[in-house]
Amino acid sequence: MTIPASEFRYVNGELYCEDVSITELTTRFGTPLYVYSRNHIEKQFMEYRTHLREDGLVCYSVKANTSRAILQILGGLGAGADVVSGGELYRAIHAGIDPSRIVFSGVGKTDEEIEYALRVGILMFNVESMEELENIARIAADLKKEAPVAIRVNPDVAIPSHPYISTGFKKAKFGLPEDEALEAYSFAAKTPGLDPVGIDCHIGSQILSLQPFEEAFNKLKEMVKHLKKDGLNIRYFDFGGGVGIKYRDSDSPFAIREYANLVNKIAEESGTIPILEPGRSIVGNAGAVIVKVLYVKKTRFKNFIITDIGMNDLPRPSLYDAYHEVVCVEAVEAIEDREMKEWDIVGPVCESGDFIARARLFPEVQRGAYIAVLSAGAYAASMASNYNSRPRAAEVLVDGDSYFLVKGRESIEYLIKDEVGLEVKQ
Ligand SMILES: *Cc1c(COP(=O)(O)O)cnc(C)c1O
Repeated sequence: MTIPASEFRYVNGELYCEDVSITELTTRFGTPLYVYSRNHIEKQFMEYRTHLREDGLVCYSVKANTSRAILQILGGLGAGADVVSGGELYRAIHAGIDPSRIVFSGVGKTDEEIEYALRVGILMFNVESMEELENIARIAADLKKEAPVAIRVNPDVAIPSHPYISTGFKKAKFGLPEDEALEAYSFAAKTPGLDPVGIDCHIGSQILSLQPFEEAFNKLKEMVKHLKKDGLNIRYFDFGGGVGIKYRDSDSPFAIREYANLVNKIAEESGTIPILEPGRSIVGNAGAVIVKVLYVKKTRFKNFIITDIGMNDLPRPSLYDAYHEVVCVEAVEAIEDREMKEWDIVGPVCESGDFIARARLFPEVQRGAYIAVLSAGAYAASMASNYNSRPRAAEVLVDGDSYFLVKGRESIEYLIKDEVGLEVKQ
C-alpha cells in the first residue's frame, strides 16, 4: 500500500490531502467523495509550462476532469484547452479560457458543434476524416468564415498501453494515414472556408515509453517539411496528450521535462509552434476518491469488501482493468499489525464487472471504515454515470489548509428531473 507521489500522505497516522484531514472531509461531506489537491494540479501544469518552449501552448485535455474549479485554476495559469465536444467547449469558455487557446479534437463533431466553435473562434479544429473536412468547409463558407484546421495524422505506431486508450495504430478510428492526410491537406489548401494552419496527432494515453512518441513525431515532422515545400503555411504542431503517470510502484513514467525537450526539438526542426494536450498527468495523481466500507463479506470461496462506490463512479477498473492503489484512511500504525488477506474490493452495482480492485492484499477492515482509492483525479469523475440510479458523488478541492466543495452531491430528485411521465399531455 504505497502512495504514488502526490499530496496524499499520512499525518499522525491519518490520511491527509495537503493540510486537510480526510476524516474532516468525509464527516462534512459524506462519501463517496472526490478529493483534489490544488497544489498538485498547479505543480504538474507548471512542469509543462516551464519546460515547453515559451511560445508553445499547453492545452489541458478537458475530458480528463471537467471540473469548473480545475479549469479555472489551469486557465488562470495560462492553459488553453483541448476539447472533444461542444459541451467541453462550453465548459472551457465558461471557466474563462479564451477560445483562441482552444483546440477541438474528436472523430464525430456535429454540425452544431462545428458552428459553435466557428462562432466563438477557436484556435483550430483537429480534423479526423475527409467528410469532416468537407463539412467544416461547408459550414464555414455558410457563416462567411475561414476555419483553421489541422489534420490529425494516424502515424501507425505500436503502443504498449491498453488497446482502448491506444489511438495511433492503423486500424484505430482516429486520424488519417499519412498519404490520405496529405490528400486532405491539398484539398484544404484549395478550398475556400478552410485554412490549414497545423498538424496533429495523439497516439494514446498512459504510455510509459518515449520511443513510440519519437517515432510518431518524426513521421509528422517529415510531413510538415513536405507540406511547407508545397507552399502550405503549417504553423502549429499539436503533439497530443501528455505523459503517463504512476498508478503503482512498478510504473515508471518518463519526466514531463524529457517529453517537453523532445517536443521542443521536433518543433524547432519543423519550424512550428508546439501544442501539448495533457490531461491525466495534470490531474490524475491530484485526486482520490474516498469510499466507505458498507459490508465485509467472507464466503467459503472469496473475501469481499463491499464499498459505496461503484463502476458508475470509477469506471476505469471495469473499463480497462485499470489498477488503482487503495489505502486505509485510518491510522497506518493501527492497521500495520493486522493480518493481510486477499480481497476483492467491489461496489454495489449489479454487475460482476463492478470492482475497484481484485485479488488485492489488504488488511481486515470493518463496516464503516473509510478507504481512499488513489490516482482518481483523471478519467474518474468525468466518466461517472447514474447507472443503477446512483446520484453522482460530491467533489472537494483542497488548497493548503482550506477546502471548497466544487461539486455538490447529486440529489435523487435530480435523477428524474428531465423525465417526462405519461401523465403529462403533449
Ligand atoms: C484524451 C486525449 C488527450 C489527453 O491524453 P492524456 O493521456 O490524458 O494526457 C489529448 N488529446 C486527445 C485528442 C485526447 O483524446
